[in-house]
Amino acid sequence: MTTVNTNNGSAMTQQPRSKSRRRPNVLITGTPGTGKTTLAAMIVERLNQMNSSEEHERQDEEEDDDNDVVAAKHINVGEIIRTYKFYDGYDAELETHILDEDQLIDYLDEVFVETLTKAQLATTSSEYDDDENEQHENYSVSLITDYHICEIFPERYFDLVLVLRTNTEFLYDRYIERNYHQTPTNNSIISGHNNDDSNTTATTTTITPVSAKVTQNLQCEIMNVIYENARNSYASEIVVELSSNTIEDMESNVERVVQWIQLWMKDNESVPS
Ligand code: ADP
Repeated sequence: MTTVNTNNGSAMTQQPRSKSRRRPNVLITGTPGTGKTTLAAMIVERLNQMNSSEEHERQDEEEDDDNDVVAAKHINVGEIIRTYKFYDGYDAELETHILDEDQLIDYLDEVFVETLTKAQLATTSSEYDDDENEQHENYSVSLITDYHICEIFPERYFDLVLVLRTNTEFLYDRYIERNYHQTPTNNSIISGHNNDDSNTTATTTTITPVSAKVTQNLQCEIMNVIYENARNSYASEIVVELSSNTIEDMESNVERVVQWIQLWMKDNESVPS
């Protein structure tokens, strides 16, 4: 059974690293089913709600009713891969597409660079008053990215890397609800990356009555695979484990991340453009 080591790191209380962005970017990673997509969506919703209320207060006396300014965007990497078919073949044995990392990173580079560029323009918007640059005014967005593979992204993308951890009994129930394949197949060693939220895994030596997908993912969680990958890929002080067993965990994780983002912004108010 996996023992969840809940946030014994100090990243969520430490001073953030100085970056040229005005809002921090967060990667949410973890074994499939730990709640990455749900948490990312909740954080984005909360940040945008807060931002929208602040905007309304600020614009109370003004005609301008522009609600388009968002504080955060959800980068759902699995969805992006499926949408743009960033595939590099198909693995028939594993019944999964193989991820084309280069295509994915090229795409994400544009997203991350475009966001940063707009934010930088916003910080110097007083120098511009044409329409094109006006739209960048106050532009700053946190990109909240979720994916079960963390080692493929450039380190520069993220200011905080969260690894969600779920006890295997909860995880198992979630897999059953997800209706993963029920046909047992051989449990092979799977390495490399693919887009199917089932195949970041570790060596398994037993055949169980559950599907290979379920077994692989449970093994992955038990063996700390994603956490180890995160620790090997990012500065240890920005990698934090969070428990994601219950709804209460999820709610408290939203609060903690939102607070961390606010603190980061306060500490980086005078970031040079
Ligand atoms: P992932 O993106 O990591 O694969 P999802 O966000 O899709 O996981 O969540 C998988 C399922 O587990 C969803 O039905 C979601 O509502 C549920 N879930 C996620 N996190 C929790 C949690 N902390 N407590 C209870 N249920 C959760």
